[in-house]
Amino acid sequence: MGKFIDLTGQTFNRLTVVSRAENSRHPSANWNCVCSCGNATVVRGDSLKSGGTRSCGCINKEFCASGNARRIDGLSVSDKAAWKRRHYDMNPEKKAKKNRQTVILIRSALKTVSKQIRDGYGNRCSCCGQTGDLFLQLDHVFGGGRQDAKSHGTLAMYRRVVSEGFPNRYQVLCANCNHAKLRNRGVCPHAGFLGWHAEDLLSGCTAGT
Ligand SMILES: [Zn+2]
Ligand SMILES: [Zn+2]
Ligand SMILES: [Zn+2]
Repeated sequence: MGKFIDLTGQTFNRLTVVSRAENSRHPSANWNCVCSCGNATVVRGDSLKSGGTRSCGCINKEFCASGNARRIDGLSVSDKAAWKRRHYDMNPEKKAKKNRQTVILIRSALKTVSKQIRDGYGNRCSCCGQTGDLFLQLDHVFGGGRQDAKSHGTLAMYRRVVSEGFPNRYQVLCANCNHAKLRNRGVCPHAGFLGWHAEDLLSGCTAGT
């Protein structure tokens, strides 16, 4: 533990230390400060000294209200992400352009990686042998594909399949087999097995699933 230094009366950027505050679990002491805007706040000594905390939060608030300023009172705004958000919110045309560019980039990346996947799995449906790029889809053999795409994003999911060298827990199916597999409890009906779900569907009862 470092030597205790009394910071009372000292000013760090917008904050002036008034008195010692109650300690937190952190080894560095807490200090009651008054901000030049008039707000009172409690700040840890090390963040006062390092400049990590420079105001009660009013610097970032002013920055947000100020459009594209990168500096307030000669202090740089630490939150680059906030600056970017603000920058693009203030420039709807730039924002739209950036969004368009992102969409184009993602689309072309998806195109490339889905071709790699089709090639990697033999360019045909592993169930019925159907060929043709537009018929083929990546399938998670043991299910969970939708959740996977939802939590990681389709592009990241495809890239992972490629980088793992096309493992056999994935396969390429035609849309027909893929959909029928989903409705038949994980087995394409081409396999000659009708799951309970399919029996319900065929008998016209779709409730309770
Ligand atoms: Zn303030
Ligand atoms: Zn098929
Ligand atoms: Zn099939």
